[in-house]
Amino acid sequence: MERRFIDLHMHTDCSDGVHTPAELLALVRQANLAAFAVTDHDTLKGYHEVKHLLGEDDPELISGLELSVRHEEADLHVLAYLFDPEDVPLDEALAGFRAGRNQRARRMVEKLNELGISVTYNQVAERAGKAAIGRPHIAQTMFEQNQVPSYQAAFDKYIGNGKPAYVPKRNFTPSEALHAIHQAGGLAVLAHPQVDETYRYLEMLVGLGLDGIEIYHPAHLQRHTDQLRHLAERFRLLVSGGSDFHGREGRYGAIGSQHVPAEYLLALKQRAQSRKDNL
Ligand code: AMP
Ligand code: ZN
Ligand code: FE
Ligand code: FE
Repeated sequence: MERRFIDLHMHTDCSDGVHTPAELLALVRQANLAAFAVTDHDTLKGYHEVKHLLGEDDPELISGLELSVRHEEADLHVLAYLFDPEDVPLDEALAGFRAGRNQRARRMVEKLNELGISVTYNQVAERAGKAAIGRPHIAQTMFEQNQVPSYQAAFDKYIGNGKPAYVPKRNFTPSEALHAIHQAGGLAVLAHPQVDETYRYLEMLVGLGLDGIEIYHPAHLQRHTDQLRHLAERFRLLVSGGSDFHGREGRYGAIGSQHVPAEYLLALKQRAQSRKDNL
């Protein structure tokens, strides 16, 4: 059967996904995709592991990452694609951000303890395993320790943006993130612009050289995807999409669920090539 679809957004347990890179690849194989990207937060470990495991009949794997960017009060997620995965400055920047995540998790645990939630940093770190600690690890630990009735309740009551135990991460600024991606030969794509309505920042990001936006995402309704497609036309941006698969329920989809046309990747590759030609 011809492979017509791609999925350019998914996570392994090297960041906040549930599945190991090998397990993820097994699921990707069932989805009959033409291409995919592993887009862990702040790390390429999962990408490299999947790359090693790839066989001849497997879909094409492109390099990917998801970076968190702070602008004013907003937390923007920027996807990076088609960059050089061996780029040293990019790798060093990522290592700094992973260390910052673990520091921040310590402070969130302290705040939770002050609010009467009984979890320890070690429990959270153990749950994160080889990953830098993200809020999903904290939420999962709170649930497992019977401190909240559900995973989602941890966010709604304690660690969602602006909630009492929330501590912001040290983040890239928009220009730092786009520069890090572009100097490594990659493309910058605004992730799920409908979530938190971050499409409001498009003009600013376009001014910094944003390449595209993610229009297909499980948190986007059909009308959001249509509106975002129009915005992409207006700003001359490329379009992309993926499941944001994490291996758990919530805002995330199953691998391949977004039916992103493979032609989107061709356009991304052409843009990456013309950027490289102009480097
Ligand atoms: P972090 O990068 O550690 O700040 O964690 C961000 C991740 O937490 C997001 O990618 C989501 O997976 C999850 N998250 C953030 N806010 C919420 C929310 N309100 N409800 C559910 N999950 C959330
Ligand atoms: Zn995630
Ligand atoms: Fe995201
Ligand atoms: Fe994601």
